[in-house]
Amino acid sequence: EKADIGVTGLAVMGRNLARNLARHGYAVAVHNRTEARTKALVEEFGGEGTFLPAATPEEFVASLERPRRVVVMVKAGAPTDAVIEEFAPLLEPGDVIVDGGNAHFLDTRRREAALRERGLHFVGTGISGGEEGALNGPSIMPGGSAESWEALGPLFESIAAKVDGVPCTTHIGPDGAGHFVKMVHNGIEYADMQLIAESYDLLRHAGGHSPAEMAEIFRTWNAGRLDSYLIEITADILAHTDPETGRPFVDVVLDQAEQKGTGRWTVQTALDLGSPVNGIAEAVFARSVSGHADLREAAHSLPGPSRSAAPADRAASGDEAGRGASADGAEPAAFAGEAGRAALAGEAGRAALAGEAGRGAFVDEAERGAFADKVEKALYASKIVAYAQGFDEIRAGSDEYGWDIDLGATAAIWRGGCIIRAEFLDRIRAAYEGDPATPTLLTTPDFAEALADAQDAWREVVATAVRLGIPVPGFSAALAYYDSLRADRLPAALIQSQRDYFGAHTYRRVDKDGTFHTLWAEDPRTEVTR
Ligand code: NDP
Repeated sequence: EKADIGVTGLAVMGRNLARNLARHGYAVAVHNRTEARTKALVEEFGGEGTFLPAATPEEFVASLERPRRVVVMVKAGAPTDAVIEEFAPLLEPGDVIVDGGNAHFLDTRRREAALRERGLHFVGTGISGGEEGALNGPSIMPGGSAESWEALGPLFESIAAKVDGVPCTTHIGPDGAGHFVKMVHNGIEYADMQLIAESYDLLRHAGGHSPAEMAEIFRTWNAGRLDSYLIEITADILAHTDPETGRPFVDVVLDQAEQKGTGRWTVQTALDLGSPVNGIAEAVFARSVSGHADLREAAHSLPGPSRSAAPADRAASGDEAGRGASADGAEPAAFAGEAGRAALAGEAGRAALAGEAGRGAFVDEAERGAFADKVEKALYASKIVAYAQGFDEIRAGSDEYGWDIDLGATAAIWRGGCIIRAEFLDRIRAAYEGDPATPTLLTTPDFAEALADAQDAWREVVATAVRLGIPVPGFSAALAYYDSLRADRLPAALIQSQRDYFGAHTYRRVDKDGTFHTLWAEDPRTEVTR
């Protein structure tokens, strides 16, 4: 018996992908550098389908039906090159190598070009959904030749997540297109997570909600337009109590976010493409700030908002002592020491927030529900901006590299399987279907209406955060982007003037065509055409 497809690299992702394929009736050749993993897979899960274990690359390749389909699921970077070099010489023209790892799209372009020279198809494929997705249905983003999609499409469609029966995979485009789109997916994921985290911070430190209360708020949001995997798990996390200490789980986790690099790549690439993804960039930087214990330690004693800057609604509520403590507590709330954080724990948190512990609930008791609604609006509006920026970056990459990526189809395959999966992606799909050439998602009818409805609340939430000293880089960057795009005139006119003044970089005028330079050093100053 021959295998329909082979998977080499059987750590969590490769193993689960192989099992997913086998469960869908494909005979799967399996191989791993360290053979123990291959054996373990067959021993533990052999009953799930047909696995053809191979001890060597030669044995693995010999067991594959032609054209051979080899999925490489090893550590990204040098290991991927090493494995490709090991297998490529054993393959024949027309065979297909799939790299399902998180490769940088420029590496994928390089590998694709080199293997094309040797008559092989190379398919850099983004696979999202983590190990659970790999097993039960990921979102699959393959980039490569049309022939390679013919060879892989039916298999990918059968193992991908389904939304309304439609598989979450499509041929993204040639060479690096698949990995590019996966990279931006991850960048958007960073932004989405940051925005949710800011919402949490605001509900807690401005709204005075306990984690248990916030779990309920997120559950309610998850039943509305914010319905998404990330909101769902946030509710779950906030409802979880640490079994060891009895404290809210979120309070025992060190507040330093890590990253593996795809968010950083998204921003680096955006800078190269001139694509203004400030919401995504702030999310990457926010993780970086959180991880800089040295900076935070050094700056910990810097003052937060003074009492006189306290909002009126705060002054009207609570006793004198509580208010005073609140004002001082405003900034440190986000950076509170262990003791401060402990005081916030549990249902008792409300009382603590309002009183003794001095972590003020800044919103009046009667206003708390309304404030949470405003945070929901700010979150939704900021989310629209972050996604719009991500899709703009995909368009910029597609233009730069000639990939002809279908943005609506890309949104459609993120509706299921991946980490950012949500009903929201169907709204993006529909927006591009309605106007494929729209310069920005912000002006498509549904989103424009949502932004118009949200913008007052959005501003109020950002203003409240600023007054209280709660950092909201994601919300405020998204709002600044929104206001920049809709501005009649930007101060860029002054920047161009400065550039012309110190560097003779020239400027264009609003009232006539051409390029001009003012002779700033002369008296009288005169304008010349350049
Ligand atoms: P790892 O990234 O931890 O990689 C481990 C695998 O790579 C093992 O099979 C290992 O073999 C193999 N390997 C490492 N170096 C070499 C080498 N020089 N030659 C041959 N094989 C080598 O595994 P994951 O399953 O976590 O991820 C696989 C890929 O999928 C990565 O590119 C990752 O970025 C990507 N990915 C991961 C996701 C996740 O949630 N984990 C989600 C989406 C993508 P051995 O057993 O012999 O050490």
